Amino acid sequence: MTTADLVVPDAHVLTMDRDRPVTDTIAVRDGVIVALGADARALIGPRTEVIEATGHTVTPGLTDCHQHSVMGAGSTRGADLVGAVTLAEVQRRLAEQAAPCGPDDWVVGFGGEYAAFAGRAIHRDLIDAAVDGRPAFVWMADSHTALLSTAALRLAGLTGPREFADRSEIVCDERGPTGELHEMTACFLGYRAVPPMPRGEMLARVEELFAEQNRHGVTGVHILDDAPGTVDTLAGLDAERRLSMRVHLAPWCPPGEVDDLAQRIGELRSLGGPDALVRLAAIKFFADGAIDGGGAWLHEPDCCGQSHRSQWKDFDRYADAVAIAARAGLPAWTHAIGDRAVARALDVYARHTAPFGTRHRIEHAEVLSDADVPRFAALDVVASMQPTHMDWSLPDHSDNWSRRVGPERAARAWRCADILAAGGHVALGSDWPVAAFDPRRTLAGAQLRRPAGEIDRAAYGASAGLTARQALAGYTTQAAYAAGEERVAGRIAVGCRADLTVFGGDPLTCPPDDLPELPVTATVVAGRVVHRA
Ligand SMILES: [Zn+2]
Repeated sequence: MTTADLVVPDAHVLTMDRDRPVTDTIAVRDGVIVALGADARALIGPRTEVIEATGHTVTPGLTDCHQHSVMGAGSTRGADLVGAVTLAEVQRRLAEQAAPCGPDDWVVGFGGEYAAFAGRAIHRDLIDAAVDGRPAFVWMADSHTALLSTAALRLAGLTGPREFADRSEIVCDERGPTGELHEMTACFLGYRAVPPMPRGEMLARVEELFAEQNRHGVTGVHILDDAPGTVDTLAGLDAERRLSMRVHLAPWCPPGEVDDLAQRIGELRSLGGPDALVRLAAIKFFADGAIDGGGAWLHEPDCCGQSHRSQWKDFDRYADAVAIAARAGLPAWTHAIGDRAVARALDVYARHTAPFGTRHRIEHAEVLSDADVPRFAALDVVASMQPTHMDWSLPDHSDNWSRRVGPERAARAWRCADILAAGGHVALGSDWPVAAFDPRRTLAGAQLRRPAGEIDRAAYGASAGLTARQALAGYTTQAAYAAGEERVAGRIAVGCRADLTVFGGDPLTCPPDDLPELPVTATVVAGRVVHRA
C-alpha cells in the first residue's frame, strides 16, 4: 500500500461534507485527500509528514472570495492613511513619507479616509505643500477615487477633462484638473504614471502577502482585477513554484474595452497549466461604483442626489460583454453595490446564462430590494459579500454611507442571511486592501454585523447575522460553489483538494467576539504545509 505524503491525525475535523460531517484523521497524497479516519491513520509511513493536531480543529482551507491581492501589494506602499480622519493628519503622514525622498521621487499613499475631506473638495491644493511639490498619488479607501498632486498630474499628462465610456472623470475646476480622479479608468490613467515596483520586489511582496495570509489560515483567494503587473506576477510566482496560495483570477473588462474582450481572454488562456495553483476563472465587470463617493446605482438617488446611474453609459454593452465572456466559457463576476445595479445585472444574467458548470456572481450587493432576494437562488447566481464593510456603517446612521442611502435602505443592507434563507448561495471575502484580510474577523463580522470585540455596538441593518456554520461555509463550500469547483474543493472528503486550515479551537463554538484571537496552528495548500505555528 502506498503511504501518504501528509497525515493530520487525531484532530477534530469539520469536513463541511454532508455525507460525513466529522472525522478525526486526514491523509493526503499528491495534493489530494486520499483517506479519512482509521483508513487515513493506516497510511502513515516512515516518510509521511505528520501534523500533530490533537485538540485542534481542522476545516477545509479558507478561501477569500474577493481580493485585490497583487494590486494591493503594489499600492499599499508609501503612506498608510487608514485612520487619518482629519486633513492635518493626512498631511502629516504624507509629509513624513515625503521627507526622506528626493525632490522628483513619487510619494504614494493609500487608504485615504473620506472623513478627512468632509465638507470640502478632494483637491491637490490640500496635499501639494505636504509633499513639498513632489508627484504624489493617493488612493482613497474605496479605491474608486484617487488624489494626485499638481506635479503628478503633469507627469501623468492629465491637463483637462476627458470622455470615457464609463463614468470615470478627471475632476476639473476653473484652474483645470483638481487632482481628484473618479472611478477606475480615470484612476488607472493616473496610476500608470507612478513608477512600477521592480519585478523582483513585486514578486517578493506578493509572496510575503500570501505567506502572511497563510498564517491567518487563508489557502485561496479570488482576485477581481488585473491591475498592471498582476498576470505577470502570478505567472512568475507559479512558474518559480513560489505560490503558496490557490488563486482564481477574474480580470476586469472596462466599458471601453468590450471589443477587445474575446482577444484578451484568448491571451490569458495560457495562464496556469494543469498543476498550476493559478487559474483564469471569470471576467470582472463594474455595474456601478461605490456609495461613499456617490457612484453607486440605486433605484432612487441618495440624499445628495447622486448614485443614480450605472458605470456604463450604454448598459447594453455590458450585456454584450457578458455574452462574449460566456461564449468563451467564462462567467461574469459583476461589482453591483446599489439595488438598481444588482437588479439590472441579474436581468442580464437571466438572458445570458453562465457557461455549464460555472455561475455568474454579484459582488458586494450592499443594498438589495426585496424583489431581488429570491432571484439569486432562482437564477443560480452567487452573492459574493464582504461583511466587514459594515464596520464603517454605524448603527446610529451618522456615517457617510448610511446618511447617503437613508434609513429605509440602510435597513436593506448586506442581506447575506436573507439570500441564504431564500435558498441562494453566499460566498464571503474581505475585498483586501479595502478591508483587513484576516478571515477570522470576516467570520465574526458575518455573525455579529459589527466589528468583533465592540460588544456595546448594535448590529447593522435589519437582516440577521449568519450562523457560525453559514459563515464558515462562506469561506469553504460556498467559496467552492462560487468558483464552480464544488466537486473537488471546499470540503474535506476523499478526492477533494488537500487545502486545509487548522485552528487551535473550534471556530463553530468559539464566541464570535473571540474569533480574531483563535490561533491558526497550521495551513496546508495542495498538500503542502505553508504555515505551522
Ligand atoms: Zn473589490
